Amino acid sequence: MFSPHPLTDKFSDQLIPLLSVETEDSYLLARVDELAGVHGNPVYKEMLLVMTGKHFGADLSKKYWEEAVSHCHSIFKPEFAKRGFRPALMDYLRHIVWEFADPRIIEGDYLYNITRSSVTDGLTGLYNQTYFKRILEKTIYNQRRDEETSFALVLFDLDHFKQYNDRCGHLFGDEALRLCAEIINRNLREGDIAVRYGGEEFALLLPKLDRHSAFSVAERIRKGIEKHYFPKQELLDNGTLTISGGISVFPDSGTTAEEIIQSADKELYKAKQRRNYIYSFSEDRRKNSRRTVRSLVEYASFDGALYRPALSTDISEHGMGLGCESLLEEGMTLSLRLTKPYWPENIHLSAKVRQVRRKDEVVYIGLEFNESLDSIENLLTRQKNSLATVAR
Ligand code: GH3
Ligand code: MG
Ligand code: MG
Repeated sequence: MFSPHPLTDKFSDQLIPLLSVETEDSYLLARVDELAGVHGNPVYKEMLLVMTGKHFGADLSKKYWEEAVSHCHSIFKPEFAKRGFRPALMDYLRHIVWEFADPRIIEGDYLYNITRSSVTDGLTGLYNQTYFKRILEKTIYNQRRDEETSFALVLFDLDHFKQYNDRCGHLFGDEALRLCAEIINRNLREGDIAVRYGGEEFALLLPKLDRHSAFSVAERIRKGIEKHYFPKQELLDNGTLTISGGISVFPDSGTTAEEIIQSADKELYKAKQRRNYIYSFSEDRRKNSRRTVRSLVEYASFDGALYRPALSTDISEHGMGLGCESLLEEGMTLSLRLTKPYWPENIHLSAKVRQVRRKDEVVYIGLEFNESLDSIENLLTRQKNSLATVAR
């Protein structure tokens, strides 16, 4: 039995799928050239290694590769050239450069399958945790060395999945996990890594994304799962299967794999307090800086009082500023309503008036929330969308 050589990780993810017999040679050749344009001649070297099991130098590999392509065109008519590259390469190596007495071109699907199966999860087809940790370490190493831009990590955990299993059965549970993996995959770019991290936990490694872009990706997935109909989900207490997620970013959240995973896990834990939420690590939260947000806030100064409109000026985890018409007194407790569509969520809060300042006809109030918010990230990022919708 032909034993394949261990692949160098650098390009194998991108090269191995090309070897599938499903892949037309024209695509294979174009893609290899494209990758070589980015990573240089080692791509040809790697390609010859995975296809023939033999090591050649990078430059020699490029020469052999190009000559094999010409050889393919010269020996096959166009209608055969579509699938002719592999035999042409073998013929070229054997009969033209005499590199092999007995060359064996690795069967693409065989190599693809054994390589994939050692790094993926059988149920969902996503990568497994072992592979993920290896890639995470590698990504961090590359980032440090190349001083590239940040990357983001998302940890997801399905909400009340035990209930789904208990009420709908494990077979439906398994099917739900497969469907979630599909929804996740639909929302990723090439190069993103999706992982089945544990039983009903998933992870994403999103190269070159900052926390705002990572938040958008995670939100799309969260919404996708919320909207999707999972068989028998009406048996759940809240009628829909949902997912929660936590995001961390390199290097803000940490500079080691452990720190980055821990940070995402911490955010996930917060998201789990509400469920069907995504929480993201935020530099701003560390500094507790206030962020400008102009949106409708309704307030009432005692139980049963009519709610009055005000305009927010800024918000932090601990409080917010309001501009309103009525004069309020320091020390008063207010009930606040942040409601859709002006805010992405309906949130009810109580807050103390800490500061009152009058300017022309407007009174500016500084409020301190009686209970600090875990994060204002959801309110800020999604508010852009909701305001845009309202404006339209
Ligand atoms: P929470 O919202 O707090 O995450 O609640 P939960 O019920 O999802 O959390 P918990 O970790 O207690 O339960 C996870 C459940 O996921 C346990 C098990 O029933 C289910 N599960 C884990 N792996 C699999 C699997 O491969 N197939 C199926 N069908 N269920 C699984
Ligand atoms: Mg879990
Ligand atoms: Mg869970």
